[in-house]
Amino acid sequence: MTVAQEPFVKKSSNGLPRLSAVELTAVDLVRKKGPLSRTAIAEYLDISRGSVTAIAGNLVDLNVLTEVGHGKSEGGRRPRLLDVNAELGYIAGVDIGATSVDLALADFQGSILERKAEPADVREEPDQVLDRIIDLIVEMLSSQGAEITDLVGLGIGVPGPVQFPAGLLIEPPLMPAWDSFPIKRFIRQRIPQINPVVDNDVNIMAIGEARVGGGKGLDNFFYIKIGTGIGCGVINNGHIYRGSDGTAGDVGHICVDYNGPICHCGNTGCLESMAAGPAIAQRGREAAESGESEIMAKRLELNRGELTSKDVGEAAAAGDQAANRIINESGRMIGGVLAGLVNFYNPRAIFIGGGVSNIGHQLLSTIRQATLRRATALSTSSLLIDYSKLGSDAGVHGAIWIAIENVFVSG
Ligand SMILES: [Zn+2]
Repeated sequence: MTVAQEPFVKKSSNGLPRLSAVELTAVDLVRKKGPLSRTAIAEYLDISRGSVTAIAGNLVDLNVLTEVGHGKSEGGRRPRLLDVNAELGYIAGVDIGATSVDLALADFQGSILERKAEPADVREEPDQVLDRIIDLIVEMLSSQGAEITDLVGLGIGVPGPVQFPAGLLIEPPLMPAWDSFPIKRFIRQRIPQINPVVDNDVNIMAIGEARVGGGKGLDNFFYIKIGTGIGCGVINNGHIYRGSDGTAGDVGHICVDYNGPICHCGNTGCLESMAAGPAIAQRGREAAESGESEIMAKRLELNRGELTSKDVGEAAAAGDQAANRIINESGRMIGGVLAGLVNFYNPRAIFIGGGVSNIGHQLLSTIRQATLRRATALSTSSLLIDYSKLGSDAGVHGAIWIAIENVFVSG
């Protein structure tokens, strides 16, 4: 009697098959452009019909690709279309902010199945925050009738400078307890089958915007996050550009005034110390206390001595002159720096996100005017400047996508 043997497939620790370079390229292509016919895959990859038949056949056998109906006929039979198998495994995306954590569970095509968000304090010890995150992932999986062993990928965005690919935060000002903490090793001790991907939150947001937001189909663009700080995710030829050490896009520390206030980085007059949320709030408070703005003085009293950049935005929308001036000053400084970046890099688009981006359209229009006025004519001839299409969801979408895109090369 012969015993039927399973074909030998080399697998990664997460249970997914190890793919060859050309198979990985084919999967990436189908993910971006799919569903696709075998003929279309052969044309995109410039390989023969015979090769594509073998590659696609293997990927279907491995359950990585699946047939999803028929495309349009081009003379002969209607071609069968291939797409990535959504049920290959669960992916979790985590966006850690200074005061909250956002999580999502997605299928293998990146469609979100479950969401969770709760307040978090990143000044706490990292093991406490990460243990809570793992508990929340387990809860999301269990709502889907799945277990932690069904997770194949995890992406995490953190608000600080990240040494990629080690995934280490290096001297993060908002979360000093996390300095050089081995996030990946900690997670692998609890979820051994996966190899988590850790990146700076702005890079993660840019990836989200690139895959499912306004940047879909654009090769070169910036994602600017304006919040407590100011950062930029650089999408270069469809991929995130991290630079040599992972710090590319740290535009918040470009100097806009050598006589300006001291920034937490130790230099003077950095863009973020002069134009981000805290600077807007501080100028609003000054206008309230000096009697220049009645609306903001009332806000300050109502909020028991607290005034946020959102309050300044609302005062501006209500016609308050001082609030308008403050927002215009911020917008001009940000636009001035962006003009320099546009001259240098010539992106197709700039998407603006982060907490301060929702203080009203005036900030966007001032940033747009200042950028267009100062950058060269050709570089702005088809430049789009707009708010992020994903808003506060850019982070979790990006975390899911960075996990998906690294899932076959990990472990
Ligand atoms: Zn600085």
